[in-house]
Amino acid sequence: MPTIRQLSASVVNKIAAGEVIERPASVVKELMENSVDAGSTRIDVSIEQGGMELVRIADNGCGIDAEQLPLALASHATSKIQDADDLFAVATLGFRGEALPSIAEVSQLLLRSRTHDSTAGAEVEVIGGQMRDVAPCGCPPGTIIEVRNLFYNTPVRRKFMRTTQTELGHATEAFTRLALAHPHIHFTLRHNGRLIHDLPPTDDWRERLARFFGADLAEALIWVESNDGSIQLSGYVANPSHSRANNRMQYLFLNGRHIRDRSLQHALSEAYRGLLLTGRYPICFLRIEMPPDAVDVNVHPTKLEVRFQDGGQLYSQLLGTLRTRFLSTDLTARLQPERSADSYTELDRPDLAAQAEAARRELVDWATGELNKRHQVTDEARPAAQGMLDLRPSTQPRAPLVLNRIDTPEQSWMPSAASSATAPSANAAGGQGGDYVSRRPTALQVHNRYLIAENEEGMIIIDQHALHERVLYEQIREKVLAGSLESQRLLVPEPVDLSPQEAAAVLDQKELLEKLGVEVEPFGGDTVLVSSYPAMLAKNSPAEILRELVEHLLSGGKQPDRRDLLDELLHMISCKAAVKYGDRLSPEEIDALVEQRHLAQDSHHCPHGRPTALVFTREDLDRQFKRI
Ligand code: ADP
Ligand code: MG
Repeated sequence: MPTIRQLSASVVNKIAAGEVIERPASVVKELMENSVDAGSTRIDVSIEQGGMELVRIADNGCGIDAEQLPLALASHATSKIQDADDLFAVATLGFRGEALPSIAEVSQLLLRSRTHDSTAGAEVEVIGGQMRDVAPCGCPPGTIIEVRNLFYNTPVRRKFMRTTQTELGHATEAFTRLALAHPHIHFTLRHNGRLIHDLPPTDDWRERLARFFGADLAEALIWVESNDGSIQLSGYVANPSHSRANNRMQYLFLNGRHIRDRSLQHALSEAYRGLLLTGRYPICFLRIEMPPDAVDVNVHPTKLEVRFQDGGQLYSQLLGTLRTRFLSTDLTARLQPERSADSYTELDRPDLAAQAEAARRELVDWATGELNKRHQVTDEARPAAQGMLDLRPSTQPRAPLVLNRIDTPEQSWMPSAASSATAPSANAAGGQGGDYVSRRPTALQVHNRYLIAENEEGMIIIDQHALHERVLYEQIREKVLAGSLESQRLLVPEPVDLSPQEAAAVLDQKELLEKLGVEVEPFGGDTVLVSSYPAMLAKNSPAEILRELVEHLLSGGKQPDRRDLLDELLHMISCKAAVKYGDRLSPEEIDALVEQRHLAQDSHHCPHGRPTALVFTREDLDRQFKRI
């Protein structure tokens, strides 16, 4: 018969340490949290060798009374809650009374503290869980805790520590999370004596974010907020031009505590659906404030995960807030002109400025001469260029930019034009050739790929394929949802041979395909009969379309979410139906496309999330040309 024994305090603490203290970063987190709970306005963190040799935290918080020092280090001793009811309304970061005894069990710990109304401090040392006597010491009001040689007495744990660099990375992340959550506290971080962060207190959260992630990202942040009675949501999400390859830049703070939450991460990716390329993750810094009793933080030893009373409500609030915000935000990608700091300072020197001016003049003269030469030859072919882009240097006679000749193609460019999906209605009567000569088109096509247009703000370069794809995607989606997508019935249904797996996938999704205007029938063996398909894909063969659809059906995994799949197929169809990169467009087509841009809900990104347009503001241009 095995005997049951009460475990010694030391073993209990080691077990607790195993849960709470995983690596030096855990020490940083626990000690910083204690300092925040103590009401500190300044917290200094120094670590050595990634924290494996030393983690030292000094704060100016309330301090601990000399006679309370042994209690602070005893297990399950805390000043933060009293009874079980308090557990459901925790307003502090800590409450388990586990951190200090756990850390002290597996390290050499020195605790020095002084309350604000006592004249001297007191210190106590704990070596591997063995507490020495409390002794008086001189120290400023507040608390200083030094943790040396973490896991020195638990070799198994010590072995699992990684390189200094890796441990430093984790420790810095722990520091970052707390410093982001508490912008009103002055934090510093030092590694091996070198100052890594000095973060003065601020009322402007964006400023703290900029200190960690750079001004560039901070400028691309969009403020969001919503208040749903008991839940307040506020913070920043990044413009889709900024994203990451993983979700680590999604910072969520619940009542001042950093948390991870799968459901909220999912809401985020839903909100950015179609705005980011596949495999890219949104960036966010969001605060959620709710009554402490609406959330259980006591489900995870390090409290990284929490349990919401009403997770569904929070999910929809987040998603709804972001969607509404995005609809009212201009998400057009802005070109960041490359600025080299010294290129400006150089111009401050008169000799260099004069040289630059001479060179510019020479270039302008040469270019003007060239333009005038060409002007005579190609004037006829270039009516569209008139007035579109004014590139002439101010002192020179007007010399329009020479562009490729824009021909009106013989046949219609959009198969869907007849089916009205993209009907360029305003220009339907526009006629051919000569008509556009007298009219100022809305944009110019260059390299059969891009359209250049102007607005008050500056110049816009549109990716013709990406924009058309986005416009079609939205139109098709609307029609599919309304069940009104035009399909074309084949006089003779077309048999398509597939693999057994492919045939099964197609027949499994028969209903979904029908919504998209694709009707299929089993035709014996692994052959499938296509009897109708979307009218806007008229220029593609039914077999080709079916094969491509199959590819998407199969790549969706075993049990693809139906909505995801539909979305993917919509993307595929709009991509196929859209004008291609390299298609030459007639002025009417250009007009139609540019006009559609204003109708699309999100005309700024193609369905894959690539930008459809780049904006060069006048200021950008002026700066690039060194006019300002
Ligand atoms: P918990 O934070 O869960 O209460 P800890 O083991 O982390 O448990 O800390 C035990 C107690 O020690 C705290 O409740 C608090 O009273 C005291 N304490 C710890 N660190 C500090 C500090 N930096 N300033 C003031 N008091 C502290
Ligand atoms: Mg604590």
